Amino acid sequence: MIEALLSGNRAALAKAITLVESRRADHQAEARALLSAAMSYTGRADRIGITGVPGVGKSTTIEALGLLLTSQGRKVAVLAVDPTSSRTGGSILGDKTRMAQLSVDPDAFIRPSPSSGTLGGVARKTRETMLLCEAAGYDVVIVETVGVGQSETVVAEMTDIFIALMLPNAGDELQGIKKGLLELADMIVVNKADIDPTAAQRAARVYRDALHILEPTSAHWSPPVLTASGLANDGIDAVWTQVEAHKAALTASGERAARRASQQVRWMWSLIDEALGVAFRNDAAVKAALPALEHAVAEGRTPASVAAEEALGLFHR
Ligand code: GDP
Repeated sequence: MIEALLSGNRAALAKAITLVESRRADHQAEARALLSAAMSYTGRADRIGITGVPGVGKSTTIEALGLLLTSQGRKVAVLAVDPTSSRTGGSILGDKTRMAQLSVDPDAFIRPSPSSGTLGGVARKTRETMLLCEAAGYDVVIVETVGVGQSETVVAEMTDIFIALMLPNAGDELQGIKKGLLELADMIVVNKADIDPTAAQRAARVYRDALHILEPTSAHWSPPVLTASGLANDGIDAVWTQVEAHKAALTASGERAARRASQQVRWMWSLIDEALGVAFRNDAAVKAALPALEHAVAEGRTPASVAAEEALGLFHR
């Protein structure tokens, strides 16, 4: 299977991703073996995160960017982290009709968001899928998400560059700016500039001003603010030029490698934290004692800290 994966075989890639996404213990063990074998073939892709509200033009823009890249001889994978799928079972990113042209491009691989589990679980599967895509020879991995809850942080944590797509609504810009998003964004693209170029330029100025008052996250990179039209395929090449400029600047300064290294370590810790939480909740002694402890805390008879200490004591024993 590893040989088929490394040769770029799409069926092998799809099968490997199915293993990674499976909850079965034997599949998980196979997935870990596969990931370990693939590890030395990963890390070569440019990892790009893209966010934006529903309707801003993510799929249109990703399709335009993806087609540009495949026309240049690159292989492109598009993954998604859909924060709604874990709660509702529905999906705002999973529509099969999206990216009609890119989805039939032999050099593109599009995979919808894993559809079950917590955001942490979805993030883990997406990270592992990204590694599999890299082993299968994809040069660029695009991970898209929507601006809901923690999903943006999660995607920024697995990519080299995080791009925020914005709408050009004049007057609404400042309300639309979430400070947390601006702190994550390595680039802002005001999309749909074809509708009203002046409004788009105005919105771009507002974002530039807003970015100015933030502490830059890198001494070697100031997040650019571009205007573009995914639909008219205008300005998409400029977006890619900036992605490459970002890569060159942060590679030269060593920040790109450092970012990846700290991402990996934080990922390891989040896996440990998650597994500890599961082990704790499944511990027989803890399970037996917890209802009474919860009850006592809810009624105000026992301080939360005392109950937590007691439960942890049972677990440690
Ligand atoms: P997503 O929900 O963020 O993925 O947004 P879509 O890519 O599905 O786009 C939502 C709608 O906006 C679709 O009807 C697109 O055709 C349209 N759209 C996307 N990009 C542009 C653009 O640059 N200009 C214009 N005028 N419409 C666009």
